[in-house]
Amino acid sequence: LILSHATVITVDTARRVIRDGAVAVVGGRIAAVGKSAEVERAFPHLPVRDCSGEVVIPGLVDTHVHLAQALLRGCADDRALIEWLTERVWVLQGNFTPEDGRASAALCIAEMLRGGTTTFLECLLAQRYGFDGIAEVVAQSGIRACLAGITMDTATYATRSNAMYLGMVEPGDGGFTAVLEAFDRWHGAAEGRVQVWFGPRTPGGCSPALFRRVGEAARERDTGITVHLAEVRDDIRFLREEYGCTPGAFAAECDILGLKTVLAHGVWIPPEDFPLLAESGATVAHCPNSNSKLASGIAPAPEMLTAGVNVALGCDGGPSNNTYDLLREMRAAAVVHKARTLDPLLLPGETVLEMATINGARALGLQDEIGSIEAGKKADLVVVDFRTPHLVPAPNPVSALVYGASAADVDAVLVDGRLLVDRGRVLTLDERAVACEATERAEALYARTGLTAELRWPVL
Ligand SMILES: [Zn+2]
Repeated sequence: LILSHATVITVDTARRVIRDGAVAVVGGRIAAVGKSAEVERAFPHLPVRDCSGEVVIPGLVDTHVHLAQALLRGCADDRALIEWLTERVWVLQGNFTPEDGRASAALCIAEMLRGGTTTFLECLLAQRYGFDGIAEVVAQSGIRACLAGITMDTATYATRSNAMYLGMVEPGDGGFTAVLEAFDRWHGAAEGRVQVWFGPRTPGGCSPALFRRVGEAARERDTGITVHLAEVRDDIRFLREEYGCTPGAFAAECDILGLKTVLAHGVWIPPEDFPLLAESGATVAHCPNSNSKLASGIAPAPEMLTAGVNVALGCDGGPSNNTYDLLREMRAAAVVHKARTLDPLLLPGETVLEMATINGARALGLQDEIGSIEAGKKADLVVVDFRTPHLVPAPNPVSALVYGASAADVDAVLVDGRLLVDRGRVLTLDERAVACEATERAEALYARTGLTAELRWPVL
């Protein structure tokens, strides 16, 4: 297939943007990128998809996703994080069945694909969600995923007084063996699209000893670790009081910092930790919408980038965002720091697109395979329709994309050269059936837990 007559935003090393450009896809990989006429001439036998008026970008990489929370979308709007978790989110998630886990994953993945997300990192898969069912949905959908299973050994969150909801406590040895088993079954499965990672709980839910054990196991297997770190102010107070250190120093002390380490949020990571993170090659998954909505604060993402830290983007979850639309996340990242610092030069659209593509690929150790449109890389591509009033004119197509586009503008999505979304519809999952099942399962889940919707206005 050749995607032709498009504006191709390559995010390659020269950061070329090619007007009337084309991308040739052969055998799941990018065979050529260049001017349409040249590419079509070089591959005369390939079918051509006319992408006039459209923009082709690398598949987006979401580095912080809670698949199970898609079913919980809207369950706790306008609340602060800790009570949001303990009174609503954990009660619902703690009553999941594997069927709920599968339905939520299908909903989340359908939404991500439609929004141009081709790769994601799931951060906290509980055993009760059913790892196999979720991995099967990943395989069926065609998306690329790193699935991190929970490890924990303490049933608290952030402060010792925040006891975790019982249903959220991992059975057995706190998930460690379950993750190893999932690794043996699924790592490298679905033509290599699935990776299995470790998802230790936030410090307070996971002891330094368990963090060390996880670090060792991940290094042995050359796989990754993701952990929520310094999301709320209470997290840094806890680390100071309990261990007498900063978040970065804690992670270094536990020996979990490395090239495939993704620290989610990092809102309260202090500047003295930045060199440590930069040197280790670890990534911070910046989640501006979630952090803003939960009033957790705004992570110093531009300052971290300046210090050499790899910063990528994450949508987080259904109750906190409330969407898994990485294009909208890009807009949030691009605007929020300007307001915070009164500096309009911070995080231009180009930097934000890097965060959502090549930085995300680097976060997952996949920078040589995905994250940019270059010959030889896997053909993970997104076609965005710019023939629409809110995206014209577009003198700078990169900033038009970052400030103006949303998931609804995505026309086509390819992963490994396979067309997964066409004309804005997912081909590999039945979207209507997925949405119906999610609605029914969410209703049953609310009924089971005795929770009801929080309505501030009368609903007749
Ligand atoms: Zn999260």
